[in-house]
Amino acid sequence: EPVIEVTELSFLYKDGTRALDKCSLTIERGTKVAILGPNGSGKSTLLLHLNGIHVVQQGTVKVLEETVSPSNEQWLRSKVGLVFQDPDDQIFSGTVWEDVAFGPVNQGLRGEELEARVRQALRFVKMEQYSRKVPYHLSYGQKKRVAIAGVLAMNPDIIVLDEPVAFLDPAGKRALFELLDQLNRQGKTIVAATHNVDIAARWAHKIIILSEGRVLAQGTPALLTDKT
Ligand code: ADP
Ligand code: ADP
Repeated sequence: EPVIEVTELSFLYKDGTRALDKCSLTIERGTKVAILGPNGSGKSTLLLHLNGIHVVQQGTVKVLEETVSPSNEQWLRSKVGLVFQDPDDQIFSGTVWEDVAFGPVNQGLRGEELEARVRQALRFVKMEQYSRKVPYHLSYGQKKRVAIAGVLAMNPDIIVLDEPVAFLDPAGKRALFELLDQLNRQGKTIVAATHNVDIAARWAHKIIILSEGRVLAQGTPALLTDKT
């Protein structure tokens, strides 16, 4: 059962750069999918369509059978959580707790329900003891965890991450993959962009390879070793 279906998606930036050129791909419920490709291949541009930050110009994006458009943007953001590559692009609030509460407050949660949602998300990423801290003072890996908690607190079905382990040390990378695997075992669909072939091959159920804005291939990690 596909939860994301992208059909012939093309995207031009204002300066005329064609970042996506007729991309078609599907993502099945409950799977771990790696979007693989070199820098500049269009990974981020694709991910930004999946939660409505980029508006579809040409082609279609379907999420949970609904065609994505500006009119269902709020619904989309409750279903698809996007974790940016750089947590500083995502973390704004005074304290860790407030930051994680931002999304659920926007969804209308208040009181004990809100408390519980935020506490659970912070506990999941093992940042509960930092809830009163100012995010600015945290390490990069800790900020990354807070950004993920902010997405988890919205309880999305699908979690999309741009270069999730970039700039993390090996222990931080292992911990983050463990976290993603744990979320996947709970039934979440996980989509991660990476330029790291080894990580994609070891981690993903499905690999989608982008090159110059086009989908070169998609399939099981075996397609990385079968070719060449
Ligand atoms: P990746 O995530 O794989 O590195 P991107 O989606 O960031 O790829 O970029 C795809 C292409 O779009 C590249 O040629 C990049 O230079 C270009 N691009 C990305 N962002 C912008 C922007 N804001 N304005 C113009 N061109 C952009
Ligand atoms: P880099 O070349 O950027 O250091 P690596 O491919 O060497 O990236 O992986 C970095 C770390 O991520 C390694 O310690 C590896 O064990 C860990 N890692 C990669 N994939 C997984 C996975 N599926 N589950 C747990 N840890 C993983």
